Amino acid sequence: MTEQQTLRAPAEYAGKALHSGVPVYMRLLPAPANTGIVFRRIDLSGEPEIPATVEHIVSTVRNTTLGNGSAQVMTVEHLIAALRGTGVDNVVVELDEGEIPLGDGSAQVFVDLIQRAGVSKQGVSRQYLRLQKPVWVSRNGSHMVAVPADELKITYTFVTDHPVVGTQFGEYTITEDVFGRELAKARTLVFGRDIEFLLSQGLGQGGDLDCVVIVDDDGYRNSLRYHDEIVRHKILDVVGDMGLLGFLHAHIFAVRSGHELNKGLMQEILRLRDTDDWSG
Ligand SMILES: [Zn+2]
Repeated sequence: MTEQQTLRAPAEYAGKALHSGVPVYMRLLPAPANTGIVFRRIDLSGEPEIPATVEHIVSTVRNTTLGNGSAQVMTVEHLIAALRGTGVDNVVVELDEGEIPLGDGSAQVFVDLIQRAGVSKQGVSRQYLRLQKPVWVSRNGSHMVAVPADELKITYTFVTDHPVVGTQFGEYTITEDVFGRELAKARTLVFGRDIEFLLSQGLGQGGDLDCVVIVDDDGYRNSLRYHDEIVRHKILDVVGDMGLLGFLHAHIFAVRSGHELNKGLMQEILRLRDTDDWSG
């Protein structure tokens, strides 16, 4: 059996949030088996908790936001990707604001944090969510198909007519090694032509060249960590969003998907689980 894991010790991190732009203090705490990932807003009265599950998604506009009653937490996807990518099942994430700090725009700061704290086995078997039948969703020219597999594998095609970025393709089986080496460092990307609109929507207030890759029609403003950093980051986002299902075994094919379609696929997977004969 694969045992569930949690952190060996608490870990703390302070940094700026991408969308709200505010400074955030975050603490990752070890948690008992079968807790899952739970966010706790220590700045709100009663310190409300928000479980990291699909049912708690309240927004998918440029980030994945979870909510429970009036308590919310934005931009959970890179932290959840880091937790799943390093094999952490159970953790309580304390926050004194409503958004996860962005770090360097990738999952690497969180991977470093988890590795410094250490990971320990909990003597309880991990229950994988094993997809039993194909499921698919399509919206506005974006597509996702998931088929049964013995592992989590993600095949992603990033399609755009952008003159610099072009179409990018990536395919990875998500193991700890692959996640750490090929995906964790890939940063959030923003098209320069979208920045004004995002700021006008109250998004991206904390974005700068230390944490976001910006690409204009005549080139990148920063130097890249991977030549295909964008598609790798899109796969990292899929890992983070799918982490709301726990540990999924499926092969996902995605074309131009984002957080909203990721949510749609997860809802289809849960619908299948809840209405069909689903073993494993
Ligand atoms: Zn992202």
